[in-house]
Amino acid sequence: MKIVILLGPPGSGKGTQAKRLQQTFGLAHLATGDMLRAEIASGNALGRRVKSIMDAGELVPDHILVALIRSRIARPECRHGFILDGFPRTVPQAEAFDRLIAEEQLPRPIVIEFTVFEPELVNRLSGRFTCQTCGASYHDHFHRPRVEGMCDFCGGHEFVRRADDQPEAIRTRFRAYREQTAPLLDYYKRTGDIPLEVDGMADIDGVTRQIEAVLGGVAQR
Ligand code: AMP
Repeated sequence: MKIVILLGPPGSGKGTQAKRLQQTFGLAHLATGDMLRAEIASGNALGRRVKSIMDAGELVPDHILVALIRSRIARPECRHGFILDGFPRTVPQAEAFDRLIAEEQLPRPIVIEFTVFEPELVNRLSGRFTCQTCGASYHDHFHRPRVEGMCDFCGGHEFVRRADDQPEAIRTRFRAYREQTAPLLDYYKRTGDIPLEVDGMADIDGVTRQIEAVLGGVAQR
């Protein structure tokens, strides 16, 4: 049973890497942003409540996220462990998660920090789009589909861009990261779950290799 927390600013590659690790290590991928976007797509009360907050790039209230994670980790697909992508994002969320770990007698998390060069992330975020059918990620400059307008994986023709990948929302998301999420790096030093650094500016395969090395090393202890 492994719990992995990926910590890094928007666009640092957490989602891309989590999808790969999920396969290699047989861990569930819990991406809170994806969960909330699914609530919005289903048009339920929670989705209606969080949509404008998310579109603006602000953080959704802690208690909503803690309840979401609590119900998710009880599911069978999490029994071998899970990767948290986008949670915790504030110190109160981390404290609530620690209480949950203690209650459920789960192992301490392995915290991975993506170190980045922030100006480059704005370019990554502002060009990205995904296949509406299978969720594969693309980018206007760095990674276009092999055949223009057609998904490499599923052949889909519909693509979507996130509302919060617009310049103003991007600025708000970085501010939220600096002010509310970056303090978690110190928080996890205090709890003894010292963040393990990977170079988030390396290419996708390079980052995967670094994480695999880091996780392999932890498993052997
Ligand atoms: P992401 O897909 O991780 O970039 O998340 C997109 C948006 O979902 C964020 O900008 C927040 O509005 C919301 N969100 C996702 N995870 C959290 C969280 N742990 N705490 C608060 N808001 C969150």
